[in-house]
Amino acid sequence: MKKLQNIILYSILLLHFPVFYTSNNISELSMPSFIELLGITFVIGFIIIITISIILRVIKKPINPIIVLIGIFLFFSYGIFYQGLINEESHVRHIVLLPIFAMVFLVALKYSPKSTKKTTQIIFSILIILMVSDLFTFFSEYEYESAGEYWNFSEDFNNMELENFPSIIWIIPDEYPSYDSLQLMTSYDNSNFINNLTDIGFEIKDMRSNYDFSAYSIPSTMNMNYITKTDKHFDVGKEISNSRLVELLQSNNYELTHINGFGEFHLDNFDNNLCDDNIILRNARYFDTNMMLPILIITQPLYVNIVYDHVRNVECYFEELIQVENINSKQKFVLAHVLLPHRPHLIEDEGGSLERRGNDHLRNPEEGLIGNIEIVNQKLIESLPIIIENNPNTIILIMSDHGFRYDQDVDFQKATEFQKFRYDNFVAIYLPNNFELENNVNSNVNIFRSIFQHASENIPILEDRFFHVCYTEIKEFYDFENYTLGSKKLIDNCLIN
Ligand SMILES: [Zn+2]
Repeated sequence: MKKLQNIILYSILLLHFPVFYTSNNISELSMPSFIELLGITFVIGFIIIITISIILRVIKKPINPIIVLIGIFLFFSYGIFYQGLINEESHVRHIVLLPIFAMVFLVALKYSPKSTKKTTQIIFSILIILMVSDLFTFFSEYEYESAGEYWNFSEDFNNMELENFPSIIWIIPDEYPSYDSLQLMTSYDNSNFINNLTDIGFEIKDMRSNYDFSAYSIPSTMNMNYITKTDKHFDVGKEISNSRLVELLQSNNYELTHINGFGEFHLDNFDNNLCDDNIILRNARYFDTNMMLPILIITQPLYVNIVYDHVRNVECYFEELIQVENINSKQKFVLAHVLLPHRPHLIEDEGGSLERRGNDHLRNPEEGLIGNIEIVNQKLIESLPIIIENNPNTIILIMSDHGFRYDQDVDFQKATEFQKFRYDNFVAIYLPNNFELENNVNSNVNIFRSIFQHASENIPILEDRFFHVCYTEIKEFYDFENYTLGSKKLIDNCLIN
């Protein structure tokens, strides 16, 4: 009887954590992901209960449910305390906070009161209060949840009919720079690749990205609009998944496929998510709220390839890319994002297989970048003729999300130029017969607007604007035109990642 009572107490406390997390991240709510969180929590909880029971047996103490509950609580709320301290810019590291939590547990081990009927009643009441407050948050947040809060919702695309409109494949080689910026910055001559593309039928465009980070650039392109403010709830996957482009294509019965060569986000609204991330990456933000994240970080050398195998991910990406096929001309949209030539840099060994480059790329980012440009070039030149052949009536867009970022060793003399290069991206487009684009597009935000001008003449082209994203707690945006690097503080605060 006592045992059953304990199990009920443990279960209510364990249930609290995924419900608490979900009620604070209501935008991410989906049944499968909630069930996954529940599963993860109960498996970890079970391990904690067994571990504490073993510890108690070793030190010859009877099983005390209060100690177990404290253990579970400490484990699952660690990340919340950690984030609270980080917010105050006190630079607390896991190595400082973990021992403190261990101490608290040791104190609990020694001084926890014995479990009596009265203590059980108190604990039970506390747990019920926790659950009620979770549910309260859940329902109050739920009402206010609205998609697209970061964007000026554009009505330009209302009632647009895309009957007989081509399929679209958008290949995003992350951080791929323009021909000019590559030449100027590294003296690398990329004309071979450009000529190859032109021979296949691509047109090279002179364009810029509007943002210097994927997280804002890609959602902006897909919302066909600018984001000018953000906050910590901004979720790239959600913004892509619920973007205006996705909505438009879905309402016109396009089949949506995501080839995830980026390793980070699952797109709920897409019909197919290929090369998708694994359970650990998918739940990284949940692990962030508990002690799993530091444990994963500390033990990472043991299983780096289980969490995220970059090489395997890139291979999967290109395998799936050449299998994109649309012989029966169903309308399709393929979003194919690959973390290349972006770090971590890869090298090709003599047998032609890819492997991770060691840390030397940090000392020579140029060399790493060029090596990776050559890998992408070769893979694309091999794949594109197959893709073109298998996908009649399809627009194939190769457009990087931003230019190259030299963040490791910013040379202040050259910094201003470098900052401009951050926006100098690569754009090439292959169009079906009788499909032409007006020459009025200079930046990513307008590319799909320009494409959809074929379906409706009234689609306006937006003014080109450029923003810099500060990766600090408060993210700030600067108009690129007025952007100077006069302030060292700006560099310190912003040029991370
Ligand atoms: Zn990027």
